[in-house]
Amino acid sequence: MTPYKLLLLPGDGIGPEVMGQVEKVIGFLAQAGIATFETEHDLVGGSAIDAHGVPLTDAALARADAADAVLLGAVGGPKWADVAYEIRPEAGLLRLRKDLGLFANLRPAICYPALADASALKRELVEGLDIMIVRELTGGVYFGEPKEITTLPDGTKRAVDTQVYTTGEIERIAHVAFDLARKRSGRVASAEKHNVMKSGVLWKEVVTRVHAEYTDVALEHVLADNCAMQLVRRPKQYDVLVTDNLFGDVLSDVAAMLTGSLGMLPSASLGAVDAKGSRKALYEPVHGSAPDIAGRDFANPLAMIGSLAMALRYSFGLGEAANLLDGAITDALANGARTRDIAAEGTQALGTAGMGDAVVAALKARIG
Ligand code: NAD
Repeated sequence: MTPYKLLLLPGDGIGPEVMGQVEKVIGFLAQAGIATFETEHDLVGGSAIDAHGVPLTDAALARADAADAVLLGAVGGPKWADVAYEIRPEAGLLRLRKDLGLFANLRPAICYPALADASALKRELVEGLDIMIVRELTGGVYFGEPKEITTLPDGTKRAVDTQVYTTGEIERIAHVAFDLARKRSGRVASAEKHNVMKSGVLWKEVVTRVHAEYTDVALEHVLADNCAMQLVRRPKQYDVLVTDNLFGDVLSDVAAMLTGSLGMLPSASLGAVDAKGSRKALYEPVHGSAPDIAGRDFANPLAMIGSLAMALRYSFGLGEAANLLDGAITDALANGARTRDIAAEGTQALGTAGMGDAVVAALKARIG
């Protein structure tokens, strides 16, 4: 079996704790003959600032570029609150995304049956929920120029951010969404605000044009504000939801709360497919470094383990192994395994390592 090259960047806070559980799973997959990974470790975020004075070294970036996929824990924390803006921990993550050209952010929002009561919504609205939010990650208002605060003649200030999208940027994210829909239920909803934004007009026009290449997929356009409302009213109406950087940031956080806990949500950030058919990819939990619980064996590792499952599926073409791992997470939860964030009040909870063990035990049980 050819080993896949995986770079592990545990990062800060609970990052190393949850990454430790992924390493357990990787060890099990190798031992069971399911997949072998050649893993390397490096630093990102505050830990890299402490060691090297920057949140991501050129050497770490080169390793990320050479790897088949990168798994990242989380970055940041109060310890680095006062470092210069250019070298803050998050800058390491942004550099990785930018330099690897990771323009497509995939955030599944899945509500596991065993956790339906942990959602902010009623059980019947969320049970069985399985949405894939596809967010454009390298364009739009977070990057558009000009981006500045200027002082006006009267001494007051004026702040400008620029929302900008090109045809090519919209085309490539639309292709990601339609390709994913083909492997799921064949439905895409595209969210923008063409009623008040020129970028929305172009977004809708380009998505509609790309859709002509996918006659087997159903496309619906929805205004982003209505989409936020629909996500809370009747979330199961959506399957793949494609949107820009800003709306994607907001809508994916809304979808996150449908599933119960931040500790449950994995994500993938993908680059363009190259001539050899491979693509750069970074997998990470949606949550941050959770300094409030770091080092206490409280963190839920399922978002991190779910991120490995996404890597198996989207970087290594190991769909069966991904299903096996997703199934083991479902089984562990169905068997009653809970970390503090998803445990009912007053009930006993497992620690981070205990939950990692529960997933490995469920994997073992599945393969018999
Ligand atoms: P956070 O996601 O770290 O934590 C928010 C809340 O959720 C906290 O109460 C935390 O204890 C809880 N939580 C998060 N992950 C959990 C898990 N796996 N298990 C159980 N509970 C969990 O967000 P924050 O507190 O706003 O940010 C803390 C730091 O993380 C900041 O420095 C922020 O900049 C950084 N951050 C990093 C990323 C990233 O690395 N991608 C994302 C968001 C925030």
